[in-house]
Amino acid sequence: MRIIRAAKVLTGRPGEVVADGEVLIDGDKIVSVGPRGSAGEAPEIVELPGHTLLPGMIDAHVHLGFDDKVDPVTRRSRESDHHLLLRMAENARKLVSAGVTTARDLGARGFLDLALRDAIEDGLAVGPHLLAATRPITITGGHCWYMGGEADDEPAIRRVARENLRAGADCLKVMASGGQMTPGAPPSWVPQYTTGHLRVVVEEAATRGKGVAAHAHAAASIQSAVEAGVTTIEHCTFFTPAGHRYDAKVADLVAAGGTYVCPTVHGVLWRSRDVFGPEMIDDWLRTVAAMRDAGVRLIAGTDAGFAVAGVENRTDGYVGGLETFAQAGFANAEIIEMATVRAADACGVGAVTGSLEAGKRADLIAVEGDPLDRIADLRNLALVLVSGRAVTQAGVDTVTSSVG
Ligand SMILES: [Zn+2]
Repeated sequence: MRIIRAAKVLTGRPGEVVADGEVLIDGDKIVSVGPRGSAGEAPEIVELPGHTLLPGMIDAHVHLGFDDKVDPVTRRSRESDHHLLLRMAENARKLVSAGVTTARDLGARGFLDLALRDAIEDGLAVGPHLLAATRPITITGGHCWYMGGEADDEPAIRRVARENLRAGADCLKVMASGGQMTPGAPPSWVPQYTTGHLRVVVEEAATRGKGVAAHAHAAASIQSAVEAGVTTIEHCTFFTPAGHRYDAKVADLVAAGGTYVCPTVHGVLWRSRDVFGPEMIDDWLRTVAAMRDAGVRLIAGTDAGFAVAGVENRTDGYVGGLETFAQAGFANAEIIEMATVRAADACGVGAVTGSLEAGKRADLIAVEGDPLDRIADLRNLALVLVSGRAVTQAGVDTVTSSVG
């Protein structure tokens, strides 16, 4: 049993702040959250004056298998799965070192994300709890085809979906529209699948109680994703050949459907202004703010792994994405909600993590300062606990003692 005390405890529930609070932890679980003294006695007490305690953050969209060094198509033929898995493990270590205690990997080849997820749970690798989509479902030669999930018609879609689920996928990812990163694939404003195709994916995921993440740039694909009943829409850029063209009618549909949107806002957006031009980036951030104003449930996720305009979008750059939301006019309390409790709900793990509550996993962080005042204070990490295990830059301090 351990008590952690801090000047402020943010439970993750919107607006809920405990001044001079404490959290009682037993092994991997939270026992209680309340003001100083409420937890009674414990053999170990950690005092963190001047710090804020809050739920571990969630990155709802990463690709641990990528970086800016090798293009993914080349990597498919040149990098062995063994080497790639070690790269993914290193990216997972960086991710948790930034205070991310749960991450959803939305596309990897060879079911390597499942191997890494299980190794982390077994204490063999250092990283956040992972939710793995495995091979994204895409058309032949379509966006991210090289991850192995090509399927063009209903029977083929069912087969890839079922194979992913049989292997142990935590959710399904489908490329509803084209994208930017795959040479020769349809561009992002072209739909890859019909609403009927997307319904098949949702149906298959539902047989195992899983959700679907739909990559969608084109307005038509965004609308199809909502109509098909996916859980989260990724990117949701309203992209056309002429740039971002926000469609208020479609955004209203997304809001009415209750579909979560992960706009993959990351920290290198500002540096990519030089490449894409400031107008396009400003248009995009206005689009994100417009979705918020329309009542769309936005969540934090960075698409870390992919390079953006030649700049590496690193897995330890997570807080940079939250700072970008702040620059786009989001309030700090709302950003923290998007990065914790709301992201957990969207990823289907709201019952076990995302907020500091009795019975949930002891996934929490402590930062010096107060991120409600300054979102950048989330960079001042003093403590990261993943299921009660402390993570340091060097790794998890109790890999051998608390596991097994
Ligand atoms: Zn992605």
